[in-house]
This record gives sequence, structure tokens and C-alpha cells, in this order.
Amino acid sequence: MKVTVTEVTKSFGGTPVLIGCSLVVEEGQLVAVLGPSGCGKTTLLRIVAGFERADAGAVTIGDRVVTGLPPEKRGVGIVPQEAALFPHLTVARNVGFGLPRGSRDRVAECLELVGLAGFGERMPHELSGGQQQRVALARALAPKPGVVLLDEPFNALDRSLRVSVRDDVRAALKRAGATAVLVTHDQEEALSMADTVAVMREGRIVQKGTPASVYAAPHDLGVATFIGEAVVLQAHAAGGIASCALGDLPHHANGADGPGHVALRPEQFELSERDTGVNGRVERVEFFGHDAAVTVRLDSGTTIRARTRGDMPYRPGKRIGVTVQGKILFYPV
Ligand code: ATP
Repeated sequence: MKVTVTEVTKSFGGTPVLIGCSLVVEEGQLVAVLGPSGCGKTTLLRIVAGFERADAGAVTIGDRVVTGLPPEKRGVGIVPQEAALFPHLTVARNVGFGLPRGSRDRVAECLELVGLAGFGERMPHELSGGQQQRVALARALAPKPGVVLLDEPFNALDRSLRVSVRDDVRAALKRAGATAVLVTHDQEEALSMADTVAVMREGRIVQKGTPASVYAAPHDLGVATFIGEAVVLQAHAAGGIASCALGDLPHHANGADGPGHVALRPEQFELSERDTGVNGRVERVEFFGHDAAVTVRLDSGTTIRARTRGDMPYRPGKRIGVTVQGKILFYPV
């Protein structure tokens, strides 16, 4: 069901935590609320769930205003940070916990949705952390809620497991046709899972959009550096050209003449062995297999960190030239 959060405001002890937050989650969509620790994202989720009351504003699920309703009347499914399964109940009984008797088919259906068909008779301690988290999702989906709320659901998992479990969780949510809100501070998680990302900072939603659009056109320098890596350089813009340590770069901020900053993604730098006019020396190479990060100290004294293919032959000390590809983001001060 469609979820609409309208102008929600909340303070704790006089300190504002949410300031006029509005968010629309279309039916069947997965929206990630992404922000640093303490920005208010869990509070927003708790207000949608009904665990916390907003000071002002409204929450609508489907065509029902649920603002004053307790959690159990809202038709929300919740996947918490840690699976929190009942340890003495089988997987099937955990999933069927809130369902009427005789819901065995629905339990089996939900276990299949999360890729755990046949696991019903196991006990929680017989599952891996990732499997437990998928059972928690099956339990949240079982009563066919209008919306599924996921509160940093992969925090307890180690990194390699997190990537595969989040793929499984996204696939299960899509198979179930669920409308979902995911709260996370992990930008890679938000970008890879969500249909829409809502970036939150200090109680405000500062930008909403598809992962690709938020990455490509961050609303401000804060979003640019929070979403992915960025090299930020002082610049001066005039007539569509931003002049900075990397030379004169055409930018896309209309009519923004004057001092400011350019923000460049590490993959925008092209390194070569020729003199490009912007030259420097390789300081460090971090090899990741599929790619590498090359830190270059330019002759101007500025340091940049570029992403290149993993098989590039650059070594610390090597002289190289730098060019910049793609769209240049300029932010006036
Ligand atoms: P994290 O990722 O660390 O969980 P968050 O972005 O989810 O952070 P919230 O948990 O929503 O942030 O908290 C936002 C702010 O509100 C924090 O400063 C927190 O200390 C405060 N806060 C949250 N709940 C309460 C409460 N019940 N009473 C008082 N202050 C609270």
C-alpha cells in the first residue's frame, strides 16, 4: 500500500529531531531513508510504525490516516536490527506466530519467498545469521502487511554476508510485492537496494530520488560527500567554467558564478602516462581486485584519490597526468 508521511515534526525534551519530514512510498516500492547516525531516521520509522507519536504531521497507509493508531492497528510488518526470533520455537512457528491457526500454507509460502523452503522445522540456533534475518522478514511478511519497515536489518551481519542477504531480502520483498521502508546509514546498501533514496540530515530529508540521480546530482556538497566518495576542491566559476587545481572545467550549475567548490567522483579521473597539463606523482595504490584506488599528489600540492581498473600498472612514485571525465558538479559557497 502507498505510504504518505506529511510534514512530520518531533522533538525530544525540546530538541528537534524531525523537522517537517515528508515522504511518499508508492505501492510496491522500496524506499531507503539514508543518513548518518543520530539524524532521526529511526525516529521517523518508529512514527510510521506507531511506536512513537509525532508532535505534528500525518502518516497515511493506503487510504487510512493512521496517525493516532497503535502499531497493531496499522498493518505494518517490522524487521528489526537483529532477527529477534523466539529461540524455543521452530522457524515455522516463528513465522506463523501472529497468524490465525491453520495458516500452514501461508507460512510455507513466506518461507519460500525468502528462499528458505523446507527450513520450517529447524530451530533458530540451527540457522546462520543471514538465514535468521530472512526468517524475520518472512515473519514480517506473513500477515500481508500494508508496509514492511526494516530498521538497519543487516547491522549484525558481517560484510560479506550482508551483500548476499540484502540481495535476498530485496528479491523477497519484490516477489511479495511489498511496499517497504528501509532505514540505513550505509550508502552502498541504500543505493543498491532502493527504488528511491531519501537522504536525511539533522532531522530533515534533504534529497529524494532514484539512486542513480542522487549519486549523479547531489543537492549539495554534504550529500555529495555522504553518498559515495568525492574529491572536493576549491574553485571559482565564471561563465560555465569552474577553475580549480585540476584546471578549467565546464560545469553544470547554471548561473553560479563566483567562489565555491567542485565535487568529483573518483571514477571521473583518468590517469595516463602522458603530460596532460595537470600532472603529479602516485603516492599510494590500494588494490581491491576488481579495481584500485590511486592516490595522486598533484604538482600544485593538491591530493586526489582516483579509481582505476585493478590491472593498471601504476606504482607509488610514478609520474602521471590526470584528466577529468563526465559531469562536473559545482557548488557555490
Ligand atoms: P542511529 O543510526 O544511530 O540509530 P538515527 O538516525 O536512527 O541514528 P534516531 O535514533 O532517530 O537517529 O535519533 C535521533 C536523535 O533523537 C538522537 O539524537 C537521539 O539521541 C534522539 N532520541 C531518539 N529517541 C529518543 C528518546 N526516546 N528520547 C530522547 N531522545 C531520543
